[in-house]
Amino acid sequence: MRAYGSVGGTPRFVSRAAGAHVTDVAGRSYVDLVCSWGPALLGHAHPEVVAAVQEAASRGLSFGAPTHGETELAEAIVARLDVGGRRALERVRLVSTGTEATMTAIRLARGATDRPLVVKFAGHYHGHSDGLLAEAGSGVATQGLPGSAGIPAEVAAQTLVLPYNDLGAVDAAFAAHPGRIAAVITEAAGANAGVLRPRDGFNAALAARTREHGALLILDEVLTGFRVGPAGWWGREAAGLEGGEGATSWTPDLVTFGKVVGGGMPLAAIGGRRDVMELLAPLGPVYQAGTLSGNPLAVAAGLATLRLADDAVYARVDAASGAVQAGLADAFAALGHPVTISRAGSLFSLAFRDGVVRDYDDARDQDGWRYRAFFASMLEQGISLPPSVFEAWFLSAAHDDATIDTILAALPRAARAAVEA
Ligand code: PMP
Repeated sequence: MRAYGSVGGTPRFVSRAAGAHVTDVAGRSYVDLVCSWGPALLGHAHPEVVAAVQEAASRGLSFGAPTHGETELAEAIVARLDVGGRRALERVRLVSTGTEATMTAIRLARGATDRPLVVKFAGHYHGHSDGLLAEAGSGVATQGLPGSAGIPAEVAAQTLVLPYNDLGAVDAAFAAHPGRIAAVITEAAGANAGVLRPRDGFNAALAARTREHGALLILDEVLTGFRVGPAGWWGREAAGLEGGEGATSWTPDLVTFGKVVGGGMPLAAIGGRRDVMELLAPLGPVYQAGTLSGNPLAVAAGLATLRLADDAVYARVDAASGAVQAGLADAFAALGHPVTISRAGSLFSLAFRDGVVRDYDDARDQDGWRYRAFFASMLEQGISLPPSVFEAWFLSAAHDDATIDTILAALPRAARAAVEA
């Protein structure tokens, strides 16, 4: 996607970024709606985050040994996922990328259950480990690939891919593979084939079904975690803001984090139930390790980011997101052209179709080719959008009113370009 594969043209080579803006090597500045694909919740290069990293760097770049910072960050993550006294996590381990976090979660689930199969949903993206690329979202969706070359059929066969938001398909999978499914992995709210909002009660039902069948529920909050609210998407459901009835009473077995938790540095995490997490080496037999895990610079960035990401930050991101969504809807309505804006918290995406987008088939059933002209017009007007119709738009607390006005002013012309394409 960085190569502008689906939108065409030459990608901008970025030389610096600050607040809501990125600057390319030619010195042109753009309003950024990518935010590094999520991490820049506070805006780019927040001075306190940068200072924390500089201070940490002055004490050494990597130790390969335990640090207090690592423990503090783990405690901050656990504390955030305590909503109204209900805790989603008892133990946390830090890794470096979201891919590692989900890969480890899968290994843990297999180790805990002694079962081979994993259920994932079409259009969800969980990073690039072998078993998780089947019908994946993000770049795999953008390139229209069924998966990736280089993965043996025997490995791919261990992943069952189901349509998202389809509980009947989940029940059928458990019936067809009794005692063989180790885990269901799901994005807490889908955001890698455009935004695919979970149906009310879907996540709660997955928690109930996995429990009933002796499998684990892995909630992937790499993208949503600490972005859509202080406790991520699970926190929104736990607080009764999303998810409908029953949303306030379920907890996942394992949760994966990335992006915001590292404040723009390479850091991710996996957490969950104590009995499952303690199967990780060295306490247990499921191996995991990483030379740069818990890297002190990344930990410093993550700690500073979580410390700064207070209610006001989330309120600002929500307001900025709402304003852009409204402008987007108005721009197409003025032209009488049907589009759908899918939302999950502050995350949203645009689909060139009429009607709600529930799953990967819906997401693909659109005039996605129109996005190319839309994207090009916005870029020309100084707004950098995600370079694929299958990606969510990301805002930050640094997107102030003036910045939002710049975006709103550009939308009508871009909408016209898309409609006339
Ligand atoms: N899970 C989800 C939901 C993601 O959105 C991503 C990355 N976009 C990943 C996992 C993988 O994270 P990373 O790119 O850090 O490996």
